[in-house]
Amino acid sequence: MAAERRPRIVIVGGGFAGFHCARKLLKMAGSRFEIVLINTNDYFLYLPLLPQVAGGLLEPRRVAVSLAATLRGARLIIGQASAVDLDARTVTYTDPDGRRDQVSYDRLVLSAGSVNKLLPIPGLADHAHGFRGIPEALFLRDHLIRQIELAAATDDTAERDARLTFVVVGAGYTGTEVAAHGQILTSRVVKAQPRLAGQRCRWMLLDTAEHPLPGLAEHLSRTTTRVLSRRGMELEMKTSVHEAMADGVRLSDGRFIATQTLIWCVGVRPDPFLESLGLPTDKGRLVVDEYLNVTGHPEIFACGDAAAVPDLTMPGQVTAMTAQHAERHGKQAAKNIVASFGVGKKGPYKHHDLGFTVDLGGLAGAANPLQIPLAGPPAALVTAGYHLLALPANRVRVAADWILGGVSRQPVQLFAPSAPLETATPAVSAKTSTPAGS
Ligand SMILES: Cc1cc2nc3c(=O)[nH]c(=O)nc-3n(C[C@H](O)[C@H](O)[C@H](O)COP(=O)(O)OP(=O)(O)OC[C@H]3O[C@@H](n4cnc5c(N)ncnc54)[C@H](O)[C@@H]3O)c2cc1C
Repeated sequence: MAAERRPRIVIVGGGFAGFHCARKLLKMAGSRFEIVLINTNDYFLYLPLLPQVAGGLLEPRRVAVSLAATLRGARLIIGQASAVDLDARTVTYTDPDGRRDQVSYDRLVLSAGSVNKLLPIPGLADHAHGFRGIPEALFLRDHLIRQIELAAATDDTAERDARLTFVVVGAGYTGTEVAAHGQILTSRVVKAQPRLAGQRCRWMLLDTAEHPLPGLAEHLSRTTTRVLSRRGMELEMKTSVHEAMADGVRLSDGRFIATQTLIWCVGVRPDPFLESLGLPTDKGRLVVDEYLNVTGHPEIFACGDAAAVPDLTMPGQVTAMTAQHAERHGKQAAKNIVASFGVGKKGPYKHHDLGFTVDLGGLAGAANPLQIPLAGPPAALVTAGYHLLALPANRVRVAADWILGGVSRQPVQLFAPSAPLETATPAVSAKTSTPAGS
């Protein structure tokens, strides 16, 4: 007698939402279902520690968690989903060799996350660098080191000053942490260059908001302002970029800043793949109910940055695009999928904010775990502890990098490929090696 086919659950996107959904499904009912995960890469990227990769503190492999090793029992398809046939219930994808194939599903989870948000600013796509994946982080680390080495090599003081000027746009948590770690890296690299003795790197952090970390608790913003200002970072609030050029940027207040480094961290937008599915969206995110079910399709679930999930703790709003929510969406979606096969009861997604942590590099940080305001080493400790707990693997290696990196770092360029700002798949970069604006 032929074995009965197990119901197949296909998950598109192995980030915070998709990874934790797959893991929960495996735990709850791994043998009952065939779980298929389609992801662009063979790893789950722990994005919150990516600024530390750009800052040369962590090796990139530390934040790339092997899907094969951590999701044993699931079938992994490395590729990019490009279409969903809602009637035939199939997903079409392209593998890394460019071959197209299809996989059918009984339940589908859409968790394709988000990509860089571009604004129609002249020159931006050509001269700014994004920050969304390992290629961008490695490119940025190399680029920062390269600017200092080139600054040390030139006798032209104008060129030297421009190369030692670094502009980050967007003072949300990503931009703030990238600027904080970038500044620590560049000050260390400068110290190793005798020709730059006494020379200071200029770091500017821009945002159109009144304070850094807009939307987060005031205490986080105040602490961040104090720490970064003390380090000499120029916090240019209510300011943005008017035009990006090969030799610098024109700010919204008319000033021209000569620089070779423009880092764009102005937020993200849902992956454009989602808009192409013909399902209802809200600002690019798939519309779902509180059970994470896509409207009109009980067999389709969506979670993470990809989904506009009603926030039951703040009626009328949807949950923010954070790892905290995405991970919990994924787990709740798994429970509701299992319930849709008659095991257990489905439940609504409801999660009260547990606070936020901001890593400012060194022993500095800002955090409000359970709304308790912390700054300095206690905040840095809580932040480190939180990441170690949240990382699904590599904890010992991360801790070892932190300890060793705190003692000594010898940053070198590895000539990572360029990472263009405009790309629908952040973790896959172009193969050219010339940095824009260099
Ligand atoms: C630099 C940075 C720092 C951050 N720091 C924090 C923080 O400290 N705290 C916090 O709460 N949040 C933080 N966030 C936000 C948080 O990481 C996101 O909200 C979270 O990753 C969303 O999870 P997700 O699963 O929806 O998407 P992602 O984690 O982005 O995962 C999406 C996955 O889908 C894959 N994918 C995309 N399209 C396709 C496709 N067509 N086919 C197959 N696979 C596809 C992608 O490659 C990726 O693996 C940070 C974000 C960034 C960029």
